[in-house]
Amino acid sequence: MAFKMKYTIEQRYLPKGTKRRSGIKNQGIDFIVAHDSGNDGSTAAGNVNYYTNSANVVSASAHTFIDDKAIIECVPLTEKAWHVMYNVTTDNELYGFDSNDHAIGVELCYSYKKGNMNNKESYKRYVWYMAYLCYKFNLNPMKRISGHNELDPNRRTDPYKNALKIMGITKDQFLKDVVKEYAECTVAENLYSVYQGNSKLKDFPDYVSAVEYAQKWSNVNIRKITDGSWVWSNIKKESEDDCPMKLETWQKSMLTDGLNKLSEINGVDGTPLINDPEGWTKKVNNGTITAGELAIINFALISRQVIK
Ligand SMILES: [Zn+2]
Repeated sequence: MAFKMKYTIEQRYLPKGTKRRSGIKNQGIDFIVAHDSGNDGSTAAGNVNYYTNSANVVSASAHTFIDDKAIIECVPLTEKAWHVMYNVTTDNELYGFDSNDHAIGVELCYSYKKGNMNNKESYKRYVWYMAYLCYKFNLNPMKRISGHNELDPNRRTDPYKNALKIMGITKDQFLKDVVKEYAECTVAENLYSVYQGNSKLKDFPDYVSAVEYAQKWSNVNIRKITDGSWVWSNIKKESEDDCPMKLETWQKSMLTDGLNKLSEINGVDGTPLINDPEGWTKKVNNGTITAGELAIINFALISRQVIK
């Protein structure tokens, strides 16, 4: 399986070994904490710039900022970020760990009274990124995403009682949207099979290596496993003259009539212009007559009428 990368994820990491980015590895990812920036109208890039400029001043941080145009990771997902107070106990009760050691912190940027961000676009990216993290870390979206305000209700309102409330989205709706996005973006990988005749030679995850392999063989086809279509072939195609002609019913009856009449006419040598009209008629009607055969009949007729 693969995950549809609908949006680009940028990496603009904060300076390492600072208060905001210690560089210490996290202990594996077991859940996600949904945040919002808490700063009406501030963009993802603006927040990351601010973090960078104050990297040694404050130890609060998050992994990712998302607005209507960008998804920016400022702390590697393999490292700790400082996004939930250690003395909060709800995360330990829910997941058995502190958020900073075992969770990704994702910040949603929004416009309420300030800025001109498109909240709908920011929300779409936020939902997609949550689904992406759930895929990447094999997490159940319904159980493994907590709002910061749920973990630290006395101090925080983000995101359910702040940005998402401003956007008119409930927690229930948000989680359902993530589940839906997860399902939509989880797709089968494009697999390609190389066939020689009816026997399969080998499968490949990508088109380029399938073709590379197929080129070493003669008379092979490459078939896309997902939809069964043939996408590449080095089999020499028959010339068009050798392919059966597609004839409409009216064309068939016209040809049949013509063939019958020709069999009654004698050529310059005194014999009928064509032999075996039944045989030709049969070919016309069962659709096996080829353009080449028709051309031969034509040539024979013309030459036998003219040449002595
Ligand atoms: Zn928060």
